[in-house]
Parts: sequence; structure tokens; C-alpha cells
Amino acid sequence: MPEGPEVEAVRRELLQLQNQEIDKITFTPLSQKYPKYQGKEHEFSHFSSQKTRDIHRFNKFLVWEFENEPVILNHLGMTGRWTMIKSLKEIENKTTHPKVIVRMKSPPHAVFDDSRNFGQFRTFPSMEEIKKYPPIKKLGIDGLTDPFPLEEYLTRLGEQRFQQKQIGDLLMDARLVSGIGNIYKAESLYEAKIHPERKVSTLSEEEAELLGKSISKTLLRAFHDKGSSFDARYRLPSGEEGQAQRWHKVYQRLDESCPECNTKIEKIIQNNRSTYYCPTCQK
Ligand SMILES: [Zn+2]
Repeated sequence: MPEGPEVEAVRRELLQLQNQEIDKITFTPLSQKYPKYQGKEHEFSHFSSQKTRDIHRFNKFLVWEFENEPVILNHLGMTGRWTMIKSLKEIENKTTHPKVIVRMKSPPHAVFDDSRNFGQFRTFPSMEEIKKYPPIKKLGIDGLTDPFPLEEYLTRLGEQRFQQKQIGDLLMDARLVSGIGNIYKAESLYEAKIHPERKVSTLSEEEAELLGKSISKTLLRAFHDKGSSFDARYRLPSGEEGQAQRWHKVYQRLDESCPECNTKIEKIIQNNRSTYYCPTCQK
């Protein structure tokens, strides 16, 4: 599933559409096969002839803002992917499950492709309403903020409500730092040499600080490498693959050797999510 760095890399390419005029935004007939789109508008007529003002990112959500409201909330889910095309004829060759077509007055256009249909694409009345939407309202620090707000992160980490949690579990909680999913949780903990099952209250000040720096370093490096592409799922709108998977040290490396100490990488399940780690390096 795309995490913060992947969604940010996608956003940067989608910004080609900034200040460009929309012809129309439509759901394809294919989208109507899925219950969540049934009965929805087939064409969002209110966006026609408007310019795309900006595309924002909140954690893993993209928010499309136009000259006038409403705005669009978009989540890539598991398999959602944007593809830029120069002509509508390319839809057939460049996408497999096109759900939404953002057709501009002049190319490029953008297609939202989502084979498993866990993604979201829906209107919200305004930016103010988006900011009240619970998954966005409760967000903590954006992990891709550069420089990383270490003091604010340490204050949040010290909150009473987090003390009994295991750190591997808490890193998946966007109320602390947003943009971290399963991949960068495992890689950040490895980088900081902290065992995923450590209780938050047991982390020393040095460990807490090192973890904050490791999160920042890992997420920014992943963004720089345009995210992680393991399979056909994640691609940039240009079709390019991310390269961050090349430097993963523990994620999906079960039974491979730790690059530091040669111990075999192990996997545990925390709160129904797998966590990979080195049992020797991570204490
Ligand atoms: Zn090791």
C-alpha cells in the first residue's frame, strides 16, 4: 500500500495539472460495477472549465482544490494509481481498471486506475470540511516535513495515551507521525536499532530522539527515490517505478541476513500487521 513518500511522489507529478483548465471529470462505466460508486454522478459537471488550483497531501490523502468549491478527496487505497496520458486513446493501453478520468482542456489528462477498488475519489463541500474529516483532523506531524520537528514529535511521543503501546504499533498511528506504513515503520525501527515490541514508556530520551531522526531520514530518502515499487501496483503517474525497495534492509526480507550482523531477519505480527526486524541489532 502506498505510504507517505509514494503519495507525495505521485502528488509532485500530478502538479503538472496545476493551473490547468478542466474539461470534465467523469466516472467510467467500469466504476459503476462497484457498489461504492453506484448511483453517484457519472460526470462532475461543477468542475468543467475550472482550473486546478492545487493538490494537497494530508498523510496518504490527496485533496484536489479548484478555483471554486467543492474539493475532491482522493486516497490510493491498496492499488489506486494515477496515470498521465496525452490522449484518451491511451487509456486502453496504459490502464487496466480505469475508474475516473480527469480530462483537461489540453493534455496531459489523468486517469485514476484502481484494480481492487479500495481507493477513494469523492467530493467534499470545502477545505474547511476536509479539515474536520476525522482521519485528517486527528493527524500528528507529517513525517516528510523537512526539517523534521523533533521537539514536537518528542512531546507527542511523551503523551500519556501512547505510553503503554508497543512502538511498532504506535508508528502506524498517524496521531503521532503521519505518512508511515508497514514498510517505513520496519525500516525506521531498524535504523534506530529499536525492537518493534518495546513499550513506548521504556524508550530512553536518546532512543526516542534517534527514532525521530531515523523516521525522517527513512521517509525523505524514500521520497527522494520516488517510493517503493515491489510489484505492478505502485507506479508514478509517468509510469516510472520507485527505487526505494533497493535499500530496504528488513522489510519483506524474512530469513535473509541482516546486513550488519548476519542474523536472519524475523517477522512478527503486531495488531494484525507484519513487522520485520533483526533480533540481534534491535533491542
Ligand atoms: Zn542485525
